Amino acid sequence: MAYIQFEKINKRFGANHVLRDISLTIEKGQLVTLLGPSGCGKSTLLRTLAGLEAPDSGRVILDGEDITGKDPRRRNVGMIFQQYSLFPNMTVRENIAFGLKMQKKLPAEEINERIARVIDMVELHGKEKSLPAQLSGGQQQRVALARSIITEPKVLLFDEPLSAIDAKLRKALQLRIKEIQRSLGITAIFVTHDQDEAMLMSDVIHLFSTGKIEQSGRPIDMYTAPRTRFAAGFIGHYN
Ligand code: ADP
Ligand code: MG
Repeated sequence: MAYIQFEKINKRFGANHVLRDISLTIEKGQLVTLLGPSGCGKSTLLRTLAGLEAPDSGRVILDGEDITGKDPRRRNVGMIFQQYSLFPNMTVRENIAFGLKMQKKLPAEEINERIARVIDMVELHGKEKSLPAQLSGGQQQRVALARSIITEPKVLLFDEPLSAIDAKLRKALQLRIKEIQRSLGITAIFVTHDQDEAMLMSDVIHLFSTGKIEQSGRPIDMYTAPRTRFAAGFIGHYN
C-alpha cells in the first residue's frame, strides 16, 4: 500500500479552483517532487498534508491513517519553507532543540544525542551558539532542516527551500538534502518550480499545471517522453 495518498482533493479560494480532483500516491522512502509554474497549486497541496490548509473535499492518508481533519501538531510531519522561519532570538542549538519541545518529554541525554547527531548531518559544528542573523542563508536553511529531522517525522515537506539561496550553494544543498533523506530512509515531498532541481533530486516527479497533474514519472521518463505540449515545454524548455 502507498505510504501517502491524496484522494480526489479539491480546494477553492473563492472562485479560484486551485486543486481540481487531485489524486496521487507516494511510496515510503521516496523523494517526490511537485514541479510546476508559480500559482499552479503545489504549496496548497503540500499544506493539506501538513494540516495548514483543509481541502473542500477529498482525503489525505498517511501511513494508513486518514489525517484529513487531524490537528497539524499531531501529524508527525516536518516542514521546511523558503523563508527559514528560525527564531531570531534563539541560538542554533536552541532552534534545533525547539522541535523536540513540542514532542513528548525525552531524557536530557537522548536530547543531547539527537542534537549532536543532526548537527553532524547538516555540518553545523562550531555554530551551536550562533544566532540566525550571524549565519549565511545556506547555513540557516541547514538549521531549519536539522530542526525538522530531529523530531523524526514520518514525512518531510520542502516548499521551495532553496529558492532564496544563491545558485552556487544551491547545488551543494540539493545534494545534501538528498543524501540525508536517503540515509534516514525518510519519505519526502519537495516543491519546486525549477525543473533542473527536480531532475537532480527526485525519485518521482509530478508535474502540475493549474490545479491538476499533467504527468507523473521518473525524471528520465519525464525528460525523454513528455506526454503533452505543456510537459515538453516545461521540462525541456523547447516549446
Ligand atoms: P504554487 O505553490 O504552485 O505557486 P499555490 O498553491 O501557492 O501555488 O497557489 C495556488 C493558487 O491559490 C494561486 O492562485 C494563489 O494565489 C491561490 N492561493 C493560495 N493560497 C491562498 C489563500 N490563502 N487565499 C487565497 N488564495 C490563495
Ligand atoms: Mg508555492
